[in-house]
Amino acid sequence: MRVRGWKGAILTAVLIASGGAATVARGGFGDRDQDARYTGRRARNVIFFIGDGMGVSTVTAARVFSVGVDGQLVMDQFPHTALSRTYASDSITPDSAPTMSAMMTGVNTNQSVIGFGESTEANDFNNDGDGDAQWTLLELAKRRGMRVGAVSTATITHATPAATYAHINQRNNENDIALQALPTDGTFNNRLGRGVDILMGGGRRFFVPNSVMDEEGVRGARTDSRDLRSEFQGAGYRYVWNTAGFSSLTPASLPVLGLFESSHMEYEFDRPTDLGGEPSLKDMTVKAIQLLEGASRRGSEGYFLHVEAGRIDHAHHAGNAYRAMTDTQELDEAIGAAAQMVDLRDTLIIVSADHSHVFNIAGYPLRPLQELPYAVRSHEPGYENAAAAGHGILDLVWDIDQSTGHVFAAPDRNGVPYTVLGYHNGPGYRAASRVDPRTDVFRGFGGVVPTGPSHPAYFQEAAVPLGSETHAGEDVTIYAIGPGADLVDGTVKNTHIFQVMKRALGIH
Ligand SMILES: [Zn+2]
Repeated sequence: MRVRGWKGAILTAVLIASGGAATVARGGFGDRDQDARYTGRRARNVIFFIGDGMGVSTVTAARVFSVGVDGQLVMDQFPHTALSRTYASDSITPDSAPTMSAMMTGVNTNQSVIGFGESTEANDFNNDGDGDAQWTLLELAKRRGMRVGAVSTATITHATPAATYAHINQRNNENDIALQALPTDGTFNNRLGRGVDILMGGGRRFFVPNSVMDEEGVRGARTDSRDLRSEFQGAGYRYVWNTAGFSSLTPASLPVLGLFESSHMEYEFDRPTDLGGEPSLKDMTVKAIQLLEGASRRGSEGYFLHVEAGRIDHAHHAGNAYRAMTDTQELDEAIGAAAQMVDLRDTLIIVSADHSHVFNIAGYPLRPLQELPYAVRSHEPGYENAAAAGHGILDLVWDIDQSTGHVFAAPDRNGVPYTVLGYHNGPGYRAASRVDPRTDVFRGFGGVVPTGPSHPAYFQEAAVPLGSETHAGEDVTIYAIGPGADLVDGTVKNTHIFQVMKRALGIH
């Protein structure tokens, strides 16, 4: 069995230590938030990972892709899990704004809304005002004197990272969200004290005027002529935009603003081709922990760090499973690096998703030839290469005739083979009739014609034609390790994550 890199000794130590700790009283059915559930060991630090759009099917497919169907990702090895219900106050299937807001404030809200309660509707279309801003866990941590950071491969003003430090009734107003993090601006979120210690990700254009080209030659998006790169520096921030600046960061550099791309950062698969050079999600996670550990060791309080793999979601929206797999793999690398760096006796690590996607693992695909526990009698050409297609997950559905031992490409009703992975809707809808995925010339990611279903540009087929594949409404998983992690169990609303983190830190 393949197992992703992981410090097993620490994991064992934590399990033994927590085995002797005070047991946590269980709440009654349906009463999962009662105080007794949250008593237990204190966490000094909390690291909260989000795989944006990382539903259960995404984790399973990424596991097969990375380590094989019987392997283990790092997140698979965390000892505590729960199912998380993701609905928004006004929607069965949510977008990232209400979900991250719910996880960061403990209060559910409506589509597109960040940092307010459920009476706040998008754009205040009822003209009844937004009501009171909810406190986020990052703000509560800051108020206690902890260091705080937000890291994402999406724009740093995107819904998920923004929900840690901003309050707004429309997630798309990213120019305004950037100002809420700027300590010298009139709309600065004063709950952030002297500001968020680390902001790293994409979204440079929301910090650059639309009359100006940025460092990589891309026009800014600000309509108020302000250059927030210099304004953040004026407010004491160290600003970096490429790998050279990134590498030079030390704890003395805090507070730090790292904007490595005009829009979202590159997909992990495309990162080597970036002009200015970009750190990976793992690089940013390691750096953020180094800076926060280095800075907080001098004081008494710990840190809260949010890390988002923002582009798993974007790859799915594009109908391209390949990049969703490689970005999920990179998130798992980042989680593994974090788990190895920190002391799991004083640091709670939580991994979850904001919502799922309409992404399926279909058919009854036979495992690749090299992984089978028996010898087949014969097979169609091509099956011998299935292992190379991410342990078969990016390949056709291969099937075996149990009478003859012959392996063949499983046909649809008309005799045409189909792939293991697919989407309920999205850009991968074939308007013409289905063709064999191996010879399909349907243009994929970036307009590239793929050479087969395991090619990085391949658009998995979709049943319903949509320009952008959609989120899905089923529950997602919460994975946890460290002090307070034992509170992650059962089936909970995503607001439960806020309660777990808050109680683990001893914040009341
Ligand atoms: Zn999305």
